[in-house]
Amino acid sequence: MNKILYVAGWGRSGSTVLDVILGNHPDVVSVGEVTYLVDDWNASGRRCACGASYTDCSFWNGLAEVESLTEETAQMVRKVERRSATLPVLLDAISAKLKERYRRFQQDVFSYLAETTGASIVVDSSKSAGDAAMRFYALSQIAEFDVHVLHLVRDGRSTMASYVNKGSNWALEGHAEPLLLPGVRAVGGWTLANLWTLAVSKMYFRSDRYMRVQFEDLITHPARTLEATGAFIGIDVDMLIDRVRCGDHFDVGHNVGGNRIRHNQSIQLRHKSGAERQPWSNLNAFHSTFFAIFGQWLNSKLGYNW
Ligand SMILES: [Zn+2]
Repeated sequence: MNKILYVAGWGRSGSTVLDVILGNHPDVVSVGEVTYLVDDWNASGRRCACGASYTDCSFWNGLAEVESLTEETAQMVRKVERRSATLPVLLDAISAKLKERYRRFQQDVFSYLAETTGASIVVDSSKSAGDAAMRFYALSQIAEFDVHVLHLVRDGRSTMASYVNKGSNWALEGHAEPLLLPGVRAVGGWTLANLWTLAVSKMYFRSDRYMRVQFEDLITHPARTLEATGAFIGIDVDMLIDRVRCGDHFDVGHNVGGNRIRHNQSIQLRHKSGAERQPWSNLNAFHSTFFAIFGQWLNSKLGYNW
């Protein structure tokens, strides 16, 4: 395996759409939010996108022969990747044993992916919020992979509206209670994850290892966005662009993660109507004002000028 294309950013930014489309390229395998693989492996009721439990999934079950996928392994991954590990990891204050264990585990997982699929690029869309905040840094600096960071952003107003209108994915799937003040929490999470991605990328990734993509561009100009992504990771994506133009369905494969779209087996990129492109238009006065005060500055920084 040569490269990891790491989709960083916050939830509800269309990462599953991009991940699935790229995963239909012969040189690419997309695995979704693979940071949660071992957690999901040990949790009853969590399933791979193919519909099988992870232990029964034909794609993932062979991994158990090369790595121990226990609760202890899940905790080891969190110790390195969660946001509270930021200082110890950046200051190199975690034990050499933990670093070596993390490096070996990730090398085993990504080697397994390369060997079973023949792909040279893995798309990992674990993003960079909460439990996976340090992952893109750790895969690059501890596990020593060539990580290309694709920072996928979405207009903060749309993100807020998505949470206000629909709630969190975890609540929708019945794994968590609905959140109080989902719009306020969404703006907080969106701000932290995007600022964090900007800061870490600037400090630790060369300019040719960081690219920012607006979700809205992916939806309105998919060919242009896919072309830029292909150039970023060094693959020809014309066949994917042709398929998007034809309105083809894309196979979802064996993605890990918390987005309900993955259970559809295939997805199609479709043009959105005006109302769908501006989901924030029905936010109430409280939410609109809250966003204007706390989110507008970052929205402008990410290229959303009003
Ligand atoms: Zn599967």
